[in-house]
Amino acid sequence: EAKHGGRGIVRLFDEVMDESIRFRRQIEGGLSEAIAKGELKLVFQPIVARDQLEITGFEALIRWCSPEYGMVSPGMFIPIAEESNLIHELGDWVIDRAVETLKTWPGQYVSVNFSPRQFRRHNFVAHVMERVANAGVEPGRFQIEITETAIFDDVERAAETLFKLRQMGFRIALDDFGTGYSSLYNIRRFALDCLKIDRSFVDGMGRERESAAIVHSIIHLGRALGMEVVAEGVETEAQLQALRLAGCSHLQGYYLARPMDVEDALVLANRGYIGEEPAELELGNGT
Ligand code: C2E
Ligand code: MG
Ligand code: MG
Ligand code: MG
Repeated sequence: EAKHGGRGIVRLFDEVMDESIRFRRQIEGGLSEAIAKGELKLVFQPIVARDQLEITGFEALIRWCSPEYGMVSPGMFIPIAEESNLIHELGDWVIDRAVETLKTWPGQYVSVNFSPRQFRRHNFVAHVMERVANAGVEPGRFQIEITETAIFDDVERAAETLFKLRQMGFRIALDDFGTGYSSLYNIRRFALDCLKIDRSFVDGMGRERESAAIVHSIIHLGRALGMEVVAEGVETEAQLQALRLAGCSHLQGYYLARPMDVEDALVLANRGYIGEEPAELELGNGT
């Protein structure tokens, strides 16, 4: 009886696995054609300075509008691309689109996500430099976002790559900070311009003492090491005020602005601020 049930579960498991492998293959196949068919686009979400909500940069986020599957979230297809060489082709497309868009803005930077596999690619630094320089874009207006996963399995090599990127003038941000395996010892050795506080902590801030404590610690760490700190996923006025009070230098999230199409990003970039005019400086300790 029990054995029989067990076998049933195994069979069910196999079926589910087959289904998911088939799904992955479909996505992989569709994705490799998506670039050529023009089904990919970038949307842009403002990153703002806390005092007057001045827009200092935009994060570029990829979207796949598939006639077959509808809007496919990057959370779904980036991990699949990451497991094949597709991530390189996709990544290059993102860099090129991001720098072209950047050229239309008055001065903001563009922040581009790189997956671990892209970052570890042979000659990564020269590769990115060439694409950015060919487009005639100042590396100081191009921010490279990587996660802790990209750097903490080979610390020596990552430190060298980051150092070279910094030397060429790129901005570097550590994304989803607090969710990975960073040790403070290593953070100190990396050339970083910016820490992005993962939105799970921002989300928990108002509810749990622990999340609030983590947010405060990251802000202090970033400031002490001379980095910008961006809070991700700001969704409410209360979070905005709490983060401002805590001295968080930069903010990003739906409450300020959602990711938007390139045309709308240009309008905001030219206006320069969230809202009609610079926000009142509310308060804030320490800066
Ligand atoms: P991420 O880099 O941490 O990007 C932030 C994600 O949070 C984005 O999701 C953004 O739309 C979402 N977000 C922004 N503000 C809020 C908010 O207030 N509340 C909530 N709930 N979410 C907010 P998205 O666009 O779905 O991207 C998901 C992830 O996919 C990104 O996380 C990034 O890791 C990856 N990704 C996106 N575009 C690219 C790309 O061009 N290349 C690579 N390699 N990865 C990408
Ligand atoms: Mg990011
Ligand atoms: Mg993030
Ligand atoms: Mg993320």
